[in-house]
Amino acid sequence: MLGSRISAIALTLILAASMGCHGPSQTAIETKPSAKAADLNDARIVQADQEPGNWMSYGRSYSEQRFSPLKAIDDQNADQLGLAWDYDLDTHRGQEATPLVIDGVMYFTTAWSKVVALNAATGSLLWTYDPQVNPKWAVNACCDVVNRGLAAWNGRLFLGTLDGRLTALDATTGKLVWETLTIDPTFRYTITGAPRVVKGKVIIGNGGGEFGVRGYVSAYDAETGKMIWRFYTVPGDPSKPFESPILQKAAKTWTGEWWRSGGGGTVWDSIVYDPELDLLYIGVGNGEPWNGKYRSPEGGDNLFTCSIVALKPDTGEYVWHYQEDPADEWDFDSDEHIILADIPIAGQVRKVLLQAPKNGFFYVLDRATGKLISASPYTYINWATGVDLKTGRPMETPIARYAGNHPPPIVPGPLGAHSWQPMSFSPLTGEVYIPVNDLGFLYKSPEHFEARKFAPNYGIDVVAAGMPQNPEIKKAILDTVKGKLVAWDPVHQKQTWAIERSGPWNGGLLSTAGNLLFEGTADGHFEAYRADTGAKLWSFDAQTGVMAGPVSYTVGGEQYIAVLAGWGGVFPLAAGEVSFKSGRVRNVSRMLAFKLGGKANLPALPEVVEPVLHPPPSVASTAEIQRGEKVFQRYCAACHGDVAVSGGILPDLRYSNTLDSDQWFGVVLGGMLQRSGMVSFKPELSHPDVSAVRAYVIFRANQSLADKKRGPDSQ
Ligand code: CA
Repeated sequence: MLGSRISAIALTLILAASMGCHGPSQTAIETKPSAKAADLNDARIVQADQEPGNWMSYGRSYSEQRFSPLKAIDDQNADQLGLAWDYDLDTHRGQEATPLVIDGVMYFTTAWSKVVALNAATGSLLWTYDPQVNPKWAVNACCDVVNRGLAAWNGRLFLGTLDGRLTALDATTGKLVWETLTIDPTFRYTITGAPRVVKGKVIIGNGGGEFGVRGYVSAYDAETGKMIWRFYTVPGDPSKPFESPILQKAAKTWTGEWWRSGGGGTVWDSIVYDPELDLLYIGVGNGEPWNGKYRSPEGGDNLFTCSIVALKPDTGEYVWHYQEDPADEWDFDSDEHIILADIPIAGQVRKVLLQAPKNGFFYVLDRATGKLISASPYTYINWATGVDLKTGRPMETPIARYAGNHPPPIVPGPLGAHSWQPMSFSPLTGEVYIPVNDLGFLYKSPEHFEARKFAPNYGIDVVAAGMPQNPEIKKAILDTVKGKLVAWDPVHQKQTWAIERSGPWNGGLLSTAGNLLFEGTADGHFEAYRADTGAKLWSFDAQTGVMAGPVSYTVGGEQYIAVLAGWGGVFPLAAGEVSFKSGRVRNVSRMLAFKLGGKANLPALPEVVEPVLHPPPSVASTAEIQRGEKVFQRYCAACHGDVAVSGGILPDLRYSNTLDSDQWFGVVLGGMLQRSGMVSFKPELSHPDVSAVRAYVIFRANQSLADKKRGPDSQ
């Protein structure tokens, strides 16, 4: 076993060495039948700490602590870190993936669900795999065409594609072994999360909680791709048989005809296996539509939305659940990173589950029973004052739920006080490191709302939620938008230290036994800090926002730190001007690897040529512009930015040269740019709708031009 693994490593390294970095794309390598890359089994993953030089699963070990026991790079020499190699990607969208590094080979996913295998010591290409996701599927993604990673098992890699396929690849060659469709493609499901492998089963969920879907998680046989079990997170139509007894109970927590719009509850990120208790923990997302009035009109907690659910990994049978947000109305998903740890609580070491979900509370649960041990806000929130430890329910404030005609912003908003960016737990410092977002959102019920199968179904007044153009109000809102890196003591539920950021959406975290903490930043840096104090030790100009979780590994005894760079994701796509607070970076998508004394340099970026606003005059009626605003905010803003201000990743329509031509309709209705991911909206929008959107964008472009003339700081 060990022998064959070593020969596989040696062969891979020899092949890699002969190829050279940045070489032409090679899709496969000739290998001997005995050479088997990613030769993982249960024992190797369970005993990940015995192989600190490898990063064999999404969170490094099943506990998903993202703590590396490596310490050749430490707080005394981190300032000698330098770039060892870099690898440019062919996708220029958000990069959210954590790489795997197994026996000297790095495997990772990029935007559009592509896979890359590199020699982890040199960055030279071994193979690539492109699942050929239809660009039209991009419209189904709430939050960019991202992918967060792979699972590996017995010589294979497992990939979930944006369009809902689960794919097994030969880790040695990158060739397809099997592929299975995990969704009904008549619904707007997506996969962006990393699969996990547990006892020969590949576990995968999906996203789509704003688009009329019903959430579930499924297990597939790693050898054959055959489905073994599926657990639905919300009940379906109660006139039909329930798929499991627990769903019959869950259905009692819903009212109205929730199943008609799916119900939501998608499992889009956290799926964590506990080999000690043989339990699988899943994080479940928001109810759909967000606004409970349109989802479950006579109330109810709406299980299992916004819950952590424990399942038996062999059968998918329900074991326990803890609902963080009963009757969620804020898109407070509970999908965020789950960490398993053993920590002292009141003098006794307890097996706990740690999570800092979007809602702003840090939760410590007993992971055997799901019982809440403690919960405390890890940043400023205004929707609740605390969590009742007896009932486990949040103590909501009077403003929490769509408060009247002039509701105040709720903090946090749907971006979450913490989203998918992985945290890290260091058993050495005892701290959990959290990338925190501080920004609010205005939740108001619309006068009219109609849920549609193929439309984003928020159930909110999308116009009221947009950035106001009154300069004083706008400035007051922007002043509240912040971000920070927080070191959180989960035992005493308090902040130990924090580093302030200019804005939200900074990177995932890695802590190491060298008393180091690594994080990428939204403003284009990759940095090292002392894990105990937060003192900054090193900073690298990454030329782009870095959001993904870093990893550490060794090849030939030398320690590396690697991170995938590339600005994107929901924040710069949807948040408009708010995203400029974090730094106006470009997308430059690359894998970056560092080592002590690394001497490589990134090429200088070409100068940015600032585009010029030259809109046609705004001549439409106010009613037409207002109609266009409603359509824009519901259908267009998720990619082209709130109130038509793009965060810089996708085109800013105010600058479009189709504003005064019929090409506008050719693109929006005719699908002229569908190969770039701009789908035809013909099934959902009429010609007058699209004409009104154009009138609104022209109005906004003229408004922005007038602002620019008034002062350089205006948008
Ligand atoms: Ca969500």
